[in-house]
Amino acid sequence: MAIAPQAPPGQRVPAFLELEITEQCQLTCPKLCYAKAGPKKGHGSLSTADWKSVMSEAAELGVQRVQFIGGEPTLHPHFEELIHHALHVGLDVQVYTNLYSVTSMHWRWFAHPRVSLGTSYYSDVAEEHDRVTGRPGSHAATRANIQLALEKNIRVQVGVVGVFDGQRITQAREELVELGVARVNLDHVRSVGRAEVHPPSQADLCGRCADARAAVMGDGTVVPCVLGRFLPTGNARDDGLAAVFDGQAWKDVAASIPRAAVGCPPADSNDCSPANTPACDPAYD
Ligand code: SF4
Repeated sequence: MAIAPQAPPGQRVPAFLELEITEQCQLTCPKLCYAKAGPKKGHGSLSTADWKSVMSEAAELGVQRVQFIGGEPTLHPHFEELIHHALHVGLDVQVYTNLYSVTSMHWRWFAHPRVSLGTSYYSDVAEEHDRVTGRPGSHAATRANIQLALEKNIRVQVGVVGVFDGQRITQAREELVELGVARVNLDHVRSVGRAEVHPPSQADLCGRCADARAAVMGDGTVVPCVLGRFLPTGNARDDGLAAVFDGQAWKDVAASIPRAAVGCPPADSNDCSPANTPACDPAYD
């Protein structure tokens, strides 16, 4: 099967930037986690000052929205300082959280009018969800916090990812819609990180990476999205975002990703995330 390279139609500086601010997570998701996150992992090598500097530059360049992701981004010790800074420099924020444990401080930020939530849910059956996350009790915690977010009128979108055969993903989506979640996307697991079954390639991406979106890893490496973490294009801290997005490596990587098939949501719709991606794949000829 031949890949059809094609330069992305989006602007040079992506409007949407994922920030992988930590590798720490209460869960392990043994057959899913692209970041190989877990309870004993750290917070990367970028300092809080570095992240703030990256966000300031992003806002100056025209980035409109950042997504805090990890790992579990709320576990970053300076989460509050980071989200405050993002909003202060004019960036909208999505927090991609597992909603496993939410403090009153987190709820206050989640209710901010320029903050939204993304989360993942794997089945309407607790045992199936907990099998994916690797942590008993995670289904009950996440489900309860999804309900609480809805009661608080917080915008939340949920990704349902199929990881093993027979998993009740359709029933999970129906349950979420019944709960009142307005936006539920189904996807399949992709061969990245702990889900790797073959070396990842552009064929494992959804086809919209680098097209109005990019991601910054915990060491500052800029990649086309968190799933495209195997495609480094420069370093946000050492080189600066402007130089990266103007560089040949970024252009080459962007051109190497076949664009999403017809029918997928637009690139700036924030649907191409590890667990909130409809089942889009790159286009092939
Ligand atoms: S997939 Fe998400 S919730 Fe699961 S271990 Fe990785 S970061 Fe944590």
